[in-house]
Amino acid sequence: MTKEEEIPDWIGAKDFHDKYEPKEILGRGVSSVVRRCIDKRTTQDYAVKIIDITPSDKMTPEEIEEIREATVKEIDILKKVCGRENIIQLKDCFQSNAFFFLVFDLMKRGELFDYLTEKVTLSEKETRNIMRALMEVVQFLHDQNIVHRDLKPENILMDDDKNIKLTDFGFAVQVPVGETLKEVCGTPGYLAPEIIECSMDAAHAGYSTAVDIWSSGVIMYTLLAGSPPFWHRKQALMLRMILSGSYDFSSPEWEDRSDTVKDLISRMLVVNPKERFTATDVLNHSFFSQYVVNEVRQFSPYRRFKVICRTVLAVMRIYCNYRRAKPVTKDVIQSDPYAVKPIRKLIDACAFKIYGHWVKKGQTQNRAALFENSPKAILLSIAAETEEHDQHIW
Ligand code: ADP
Ligand code: MG
Repeated sequence: MTKEEEIPDWIGAKDFHDKYEPKEILGRGVSSVVRRCIDKRTTQDYAVKIIDITPSDKMTPEEIEEIREATVKEIDILKKVCGRENIIQLKDCFQSNAFFFLVFDLMKRGELFDYLTEKVTLSEKETRNIMRALMEVVQFLHDQNIVHRDLKPENILMDDDKNIKLTDFGFAVQVPVGETLKEVCGTPGYLAPEIIECSMDAAHAGYSTAVDIWSSGVIMYTLLAGSPPFWHRKQALMLRMILSGSYDFSSPEWEDRSDTVKDLISRMLVVNPKERFTATDVLNHSFFSQYVVNEVRQFSPYRRFKVICRTVLAVMRIYCNYRRAKPVTKDVIQSDPYAVKPIRKLIDACAFKIYGHWVKKGQTQNRAALFENSPKAILLSIAAETEEHDQHIW
């Protein structure tokens, strides 16, 4: 590299370092590192995504050019969606020959992924709040024909008050009206069937905004069940499950979930994108209109009667369940501890406490393995993980 070429490089990096002081690493991507940084003038904390485009042995010049172009597109989309609630704010941006520095608001609580690992599963109420915010953002993006293409709990960040913000617009693209996309990108467990079909059939008609609804359905299922709807140790089999839309609500976590929430998920995880709910359909579903407190209510004898009926039915149901409930004896605990709900919850919580750090993000999800709850399943997953670790440094 000549002296002249080095100068703009140094300027871009120098501008960043003049204004901000980089601190510890918050997260890593394929070609980026995200660090906390401090604005030297105001002492305010931010997060900086540093994208390395330095020529090296690890990447070909074509790959580096691809990353550079993708980052320019990411910045362009971030500027288009700037100011929208629940989307990460790009505060500052510096570019040099070797690095991009994208400065964002710092999301102190980190990823929804880690929050879920800490909580194991979320309640319907909490899922409703998170999904409403997410779907409003998706609706806003889709109204402008922008597809995110990488919706997953790792790309949803949380602030101190647990408000979410969508981030990582690295795969986001604005689809020209009347056109479709064919490029295969995203994260395996969250891929819509039509994206996988595109990778298998060059003559495929392509895909569009509906892929984000599929990924949102996968996220919603995972928040409530703690494990993803499509998962298999062998990726080829997992992709086959996605293509045929093979998932169910059979795990014990679904026992206490409402039919309304299952109905909504089953309208998002529809293999045919034309029959899949849109973001507006999702937001209009009765799951989101529950628990909306009406202002001043007029006295209604009919409503009063309905409340009384429901209360009587609920009391009867509780009484019947109580009568049916078997006592938890030493024998039951020894023979099938997982059948007893509080013990099952305790086992799951302990498994996540011990192995939570090892629930790997990205290519192969193994959050599901922690729900298999047999020492053999966990050991198999660790063995697979160790094997992979030997092959890749991640
Ligand atoms: P990549 O495209 O490499 O996946 P992301 O933009 O998703 O990059 O950032 C990678 C990780 O860095 C995120 O998953 C998250 O853990 C962390 N991160 C990114 N932005 C922020 C932020 N504003 N505040 C806190 N953590 C962040
Ligand atoms: Mg990411």
